[in-house]
Amino acid sequence: MPHNENSGSEEKAKTAKPGDQAPPGTEGTGEALCPVCSGTGILSGQPCPNCAGTGAITQGIGGA
Ligand SMILES: [Zn+2]
Repeated sequence: MPHNENSGSEEKAKTAKPGDQAPPGTEGTGEALCPVCSGTGILSGQPCPNCAGTGAITQGIGGA
């Protein structure tokens, strides 16, 4: 029997990127330019893997 009960409704985390330091909405965090691609979202002609091609990452601000 199939395991997939909610087929077609896979929720995709749009803002979860390798370069993110915290989930969106986390207190004390904010969007910052991706240091890997300098905010261009492109790295060597391909979508930057650090920011998933968005050019921005979520990182902690202030503390830490
Ligand atoms: Zn990037």
